[in-house]
Amino acid sequence: MKKCKPIVAKFGGSSMADAESVRQVIEIIKLNPDRRIIVVSAPGKNSNYPEKITDQLLSGNWAEVENRFLKEGQELGWRNVNACLKQAFLDFSYYFDSSDWRASRGEWLSAKMLADLIGAKFIDAADLIRINLDGSVNEASYELIRQAVDNFNGKIVIPGFYGLDTNGKIKTFPRGGSDITGAIIARSVNAKVYENWTDVDGVMTHDPRFHREARTLEKILVDHMIKMARDGAQVLHPDSLTPVMNTGIPVVVRNTFNLGSRGTVVITDQKVQN
Ligand code: ASP
Repeated sequence: MKKCKPIVAKFGGSSMADAESVRQVIEIIKLNPDRRIIVVSAPGKNSNYPEKITDQLLSGNWAEVENRFLKEGQELGWRNVNACLKQAFLDFSYYFDSSDWRASRGEWLSAKMLADLIGAKFIDAADLIRINLDGSVNEASYELIRQAVDNFNGKIVIPGFYGLDTNGKIKTFPRGGSDITGAIIARSVNAKVYENWTDVDGVMTHDPRFHREARTLEKILVDHMIKMARDGAQVLHPDSLTPVMNTGIPVVVRNTFNLGSRGTVVITDQKVQN
């Protein structure tokens, strides 16, 4: 029997920010059984939380990180919250000198939590993603991902943002880099779609803060999107489009909090425009 191509769905920091938003993420995953490979950011900012977990980890503020996961975990009925926090804290104190290691624990905890809540398999990004010392994606990642994912038909949750460098140490992508992880995974598994779930309706024609006429684009060509991202449009990390370039895998930017909006499709193969 021919296997269905999976959807790779990446949920950003605002989608993971608190118990209510995580409930919404779980609903979205349930809505389409093809959403089998999930990549998550660490809890980010929202109206209840002015600081991102990644920033708290980078400033060494473990107590805040622990409190926030304890609250979120308890509200969601995450039974392993204490055990996971204990393990992350041991790593955190041991590897305190490595800011990349510290920063990575937000995504690690976020993925552990979601995997437990939806009964999915957790696969550590350290087993899948290889990052060259100059920060570029090491080609070995694609084969590692294929080997880990190909013969598994259930749901998988993978932390975004980090992997191992060529010396075997935890290394992060630039800030916002979970988008890059999602794209690497989408390319490895030849995803049907790479969904990037965020807190805006999609890519806008103009910056809505300065242009009242700004509207959400239905689709956009990858080159144009890369230019917009490099010019400061925050919706996708500019480097996240390189892995899916010319693959034909559509990248869809969607709003976790507005399912009524169909989002923006980034067309990655310029020959296929519809
Ligand atoms: N958590 C990281 C950041 O705040 C990575 C990400 O969200 O993609 O930049």
